[in-house]
Amino acid sequence: WLVRALPLRNEAGEIVKWYGTNTDITEQKELQRQKDDFLGIASHELKTPITSIKAYAQVMQKLFLRSGDNRNADLVGKMNRQINRLNSLVGDLLDVTKISAGRLQFNYETFDFNQLVEEVIEDVQPTTTKHLIKKALSFKKELTGDRDRISQVITNLLTNAIKYSPEANEIIIYTEDYNGEAKLCVQDFGIGISSEKKDKVFEQFYRVSGTQEYTFPGLGLGLYISSEIINRLGGKIWVTSVEGKGSTFCFSLPVKQLSI
Ligand code: ADP
Repeated sequence: WLVRALPLRNEAGEIVKWYGTNTDITEQKELQRQKDDFLGIASHELKTPITSIKAYAQVMQKLFLRSGDNRNADLVGKMNRQINRLNSLVGDLLDVTKISAGRLQFNYETFDFNQLVEEVIEDVQPTTTKHLIKKALSFKKELTGDRDRISQVITNLLTNAIKYSPEANEIIIYTEDYNGEAKLCVQDFGIGISSEKKDKVFEQFYRVSGTQEYTFPGLGLGLYISSEIINRLGGKIWVTSVEGKGSTFCFSLPVKQLSI
C-alpha cells in the first residue's frame, strides 16, 4: 500500500484538515517486475548474437589486413566500432535489470590498478581521432576488487568525456592516493553541467538535453550503473563541473573492496 496525506487549506493558506489516501501498489509492483523481466530476457537474448557477430567481424578485419585490402579492413573497422556501441548499449540494459533485481554480482581479484587504467586508455584512445587522452598516474598500489567492473566505470567516464567535448580536444585522466584509498579522475574541457543538474546525472535514465548546437546519443544509464558499482564496492563517485567550461568526474575506492 502507498499511503499519501494531502492537506486541505483555507483561503489564508493555513492547513485546516488532512486527507489520507491509500493506494494498492501490488499491481504496480507486478507490472514493474514484468517490465524488468522482459528487459532482462530481451537484452540477454540480444547479447548472444551480438557477441558472435563481433567475433566474426574481428576475424574479417584481420583477414583483410593480412591480404593488404585496406579499404575493406577500414570498412569492417567502422562496422566493429558500431558493434561495440551496440554491445555496450545492450550490456547497460542488462546491468540495469540486474541492479533492480539485486543480481549484480562481483568477482574479486588482486590487480595492478595502474595497468588497468593504461589498458582502458589503450582501448578508448582509438575510438577518437580528435581527442588526446593525457595521463598522470601516480597511484601505484594494487587493488583487490572487481577488475572488469572497475574497467567498465573508467571506460564510461572516458567515453563520456569524449562524447561531451565536441570542440575541446584534450582529456586528462589522473590517479592519486586519497587518504590511503585509490582516487581516479577524468577531466574534460567540454560542455560541462549546470550546478542544479550536476547531482542528477547519476540517476537512472537522467539525461541533460543537448546544447543548441549539439545533440548527444545515449540512454542515460552509464553513470547510474557506474555509481551503483562504485557504491557497492564501498567507494564514492562525484563530479565537479562548470557549464561551458568542462567537467571532472572522480571516484575513490578502498584498496581492499568488499561488496555491500
Ligand atoms: P548518457 O551519456 O548515455 O546520456 P550517462 O549516464 O553516462 O548517460 O550520463 C548522464 C548524463 O550526464 C548525460 O546525458 C549528460 O547530460 C551528462 N554527462 C555525463 N558525462 C558528462 C560530461 N563529461 N560532460 C557533460 N555532461 C556529462
